[in-house]
Amino acid sequence: DCALSLQSISKTYNAGKPNEVQVLREASLRIDRGEIVALVAPSGAGKSTLLHIAGLLDTPDSGSVLIDDADMTRLGDRARTAARRGQVGFVYQFHHLLPEFTALENVVLPQLANAVPASKAESRARDLLARVGIEARAEHRPAALSGGEQQRVAFCRALANEPSLLLADEPTGNLDPATSDQVFAALMALVRDTGLSALIATHNMELARRMDRVVRLQDGQITAA
Ligand code: ADP
Ligand code: ADP
Repeated sequence: DCALSLQSISKTYNAGKPNEVQVLREASLRIDRGEIVALVAPSGAGKSTLLHIAGLLDTPDSGSVLIDDADMTRLGDRARTAARRGQVGFVYQFHHLLPEFTALENVVLPQLANAVPASKAESRARDLLARVGIEARAEHRPAALSGGEQQRVAFCRALANEPSLLLADEPTGNLDPATSDQVFAALMALVRDTGLSALIATHNMELARRMDRVVRLQDGQITAA
């Protein structure tokens, strides 16, 4: 039972050119259902490349990507986009919320794009906002929210369409240490509650140790840390 399986993934940019860079060299990683894995990597090691390949935003040169035991490697563009929208949630260091919409609307909109009826989308959005403790902020626009609240809304948006896999890149990296701690705890609780599997990149070893397992990306390969 595998939430994510990366099998011998290789990726080179600018192949055959003077500026060729081999970022991933037969990198492999398995994440079980419900498992939360920390990804630790020095800057430039290929963390973004790996997360984009795992999240079906980019394709490897060779190797296979399986999500929920289904092989995504040879899907066409449309099928890959559909799989990404249905199965993967993304969180970045910056919230990327739509500024002209309220917190609630930011969590509702991706569901409407996925053909969820409006009333169901709203009740699910309110439930998610309540789970991260910001139901009272539902009608505020992002600019009226604190950095920690903005990130909590981004977590809810990532989970809006009930993905099976969450991919996060430094999800609390923009917050001060005390806020980061609380917001990270809220994310962990939300992921556990929903039984989601997650791969979360962080430079913070203290946060990494709160996850189920830590892996390292170095020299193009993934190793246990
Ligand atoms: P990280 O997220 O760990 O900082 P990235 O995956 O962004 O690493 O990048 C890994 C390496 O690949 C870096 O040397 C970067 O300059 C290079 N790289 C990333 N994206 C591209 C691209 N689209 N074209 C060429 N080189 C790239
Ligand atoms: P679009 O409507 O532009 O096709 P998608 O619905 O396919 O976007 O995007 C799904 C998720 O992937 C969203 O969370 C979006 O922020 C993210 N995403 C899309 N494209 C990229 C990209 N090139 N780099 C990083 N994240 C992306």
